[in-house]
Amino acid sequence: MTNLFPSPAWPTVPVKGESAEYPVHRIFCVGRNYAAHAAEMGVEVDREAPFYFTKSALMTQATDTTIPYPPGTENFHYEMELVIAIGAPVFKADTAEAAKAIYGFACGLDMTRRDLQLAARAKQRPWDLGKDVEQSAVFAAITKAADFDAIGPQSIHLEVNGETKQDAKLDDLIWKIDEIVSHLSGFYHLQPGDLIMTGTPAGVGAVVAGDVITGGIDGLDPIKLTIGAAE
Ligand code: MN
Repeated sequence: MTNLFPSPAWPTVPVKGESAEYPVHRIFCVGRNYAAHAAEMGVEVDREAPFYFTKSALMTQATDTTIPYPPGTENFHYEMELVIAIGAPVFKADTAEAAKAIYGFACGLDMTRRDLQLAARAKQRPWDLGKDVEQSAVFAAITKAADFDAIGPQSIHLEVNGETKQDAKLDDLIWKIDEIVSHLSGFYHLQPGDLIMTGTPAGVGAVVAGDVITGGIDGLDPIKLTIGAAE
């Protein structure tokens, strides 16, 4: 069978210590997973269960690149996040089983058209225009889980043009990584290739053309993104 037109390959993310790369199939994102960020967004944290939105795999963007300022927004925001990479099939798993399915972790940026997200939220519409933005899922190299300390006191931080904007600890995550994987596995047959962005700490804000975003999490490869002119 041949295709009518060329089909793009799955985007990939490098893995530290491996020559092979990690192909991205799905990108799940957790909303409101740091209390201080929920507060700055003017909403309460839902302690009943985490909630999610998704980005298309093709929105994957490599670290250390420049993206154009996207169309349709006047309030393009950064969100620094810990990313979970799934490494084994996992379905309806408890937290112990879920933890074993984690391949590794990476720094990620969930770039967001905040004005469109908030307009959608106000009208109780889906967030896609705000969140499923082209080139908006930025990933640094994945560190294997065995090479990363237990999640806790690590700093998670982001700077714009060298000025600190976000500065928190992974301890501040409301839903812990095993809880997220376990919960999400109740709705999806999670597979290798599935990435989960675990939410952003307080301090989100807008960037403009020419800004350079840097971010890091202790023990993981840092991330960097430059915002170019609008197309
Ligand atoms: Mn986010």
